[in-house]
Amino acid sequence: MMEPRGHAIAFNPTADLVHAHGIISDQKKVWGLRTSDCLPFIVLDEKNHRIGVLHLGWWQIYINLTSTFFNTWSEKFPGKNNLKLFIGPSICAKCFTFTGPKGWLRIILFYLSPLRKHLKKMEGKGSYIFDLKEALLEQLVSQGFSLSDITISHECTFENENLSSYRRERAGRKNSNFVVAGRI
Ligand SMILES: [Zn+2]
Repeated sequence: MMEPRGHAIAFNPTADLVHAHGIISDQKKVWGLRTSDCLPFIVLDEKNHRIGVLHLGWWQIYINLTSTFFNTWSEKFPGKNNLKLFIGPSICAKCFTFTGPKGWLRIILFYLSPLRKHLKKMEGKGSYIFDLKEALLEQLVSQGFSLSDITISHECTFENENLSSYRRERAGRKNSNFVVAGRI
């Protein structure tokens, strides 16, 4: 199980509870990840039995954590990899609004970043929305992946009440969307 913390990418961790934002593993293990509105991201190399698990919130997108992740992946597994990428349910662009002081900090950060085009002003309102999935796709394509390598869930955690949403649940948040990937 991965508990998101820091920005470390753990390689073949031995603990059952791993404090990291990403795991790379070729062990015979099943890795789990709980999410709410953030993006669960799974990488599979079926031929070589390798798995990657990442938890991507807005900050991990901002700092392009997948770039660090794939650099670590190439160091550990040199050579050509045939990777399949999966992006799980998360909050959609129209529901991910930036409001209040925290929102303004995010607006400024993204406005000044290469991901600026994924930040959009809402018609007639002072708030902005941000498209996490499109921003991630742009980062992945710039790292050499093609869209045909990537399977994307278009479920919105905020709109689909069967899914856990931090924004909808607020204080009672459950963080209970459970994503697993494993080698068995
Ligand atoms: Zn939505």
